[in-house]
Amino acid sequence: MSDSVADRLSAIEERILAACARAGRSRDEVELIAVSKTQPPAAVAEVAALGLRIFGENKVQEARAKIPECPSQLSWHLIGHLQSNKAKWAVELFDVIHSVDSEKLARVLDAAADAAGRTVRILLEVNVSGEGSKFGLKPEEVAGVLAVANACPRLVVEGLMTMAPLAPEAEKARPYFRKLRELRDSLARETGTPLEHLSMGMSGDFEVAIEEGATRVRIGTLLFGDRKARKAE
Ligand SMILES: *Cc1c(COP(=O)(O)O)cnc(C)c1O
Repeated sequence: MSDSVADRLSAIEERILAACARAGRSRDEVELIAVSKTQPPAAVAEVAALGLRIFGENKVQEARAKIPECPSQLSWHLIGHLQSNKAKWAVELFDVIHSVDSEKLARVLDAAADAAGRTVRILLEVNVSGEGSKFGLKPEEVAGVLAVANACPRLVVEGLMTMAPLAPEAEKARPYFRKLRELRDSLARETGTPLEHLSMGMSGDFEVAIEEGATRVRIGTLLFGDRKARKAE
């Protein structure tokens, strides 16, 4: 790993471009989300100064403390699990919520968005691998939650999100990413909802995710460096 954040970002950019080229896709189709969880506001500012605008956080509490200390004009995405009792805060802090995983949460977010006088862009999180340790809907539950969310006037369902099981080789993630894309394709066909976005791919597997259709890759470690090392500084 090269030593400056700027070097790391250009290395990531090169790899995104190459993955897009291999897949015959345009670079414009892929958003890079800088996953800033556990990183201090100064690290966010450093990355924002390089031109990145979309940042991902996994905890509402942490985001509440951090976002006011960060440059304004950034777009914040919630990528971690959301409890219904924090929906009000989530709606205030985040432009996009990647982790909607129940009808109840969809309804609570819709009510919170209504109270705040705004709409909220969401993704439905799918547990494609079926691992017990993961949040997310079972693939067969997604259509039902999509119908509920589509009926919520303050929600815009933009697509689906998943995490592949951790594995030493990125290639192992491919079947899960492909399944998410196929699920999206069939739901879009059946419901007429465009479901444009597929949020999938992290530091270890983003190139495979892009090859399989990712439109949002969520990259933390590769950009900011190791989270534990940074914390101990
Ligand atoms: C932490 C996290 C990431 C980024 O992981 P890295 O391996 O550090 O790139 C992506 N998505 C989610 C949901 C995360 O919690």
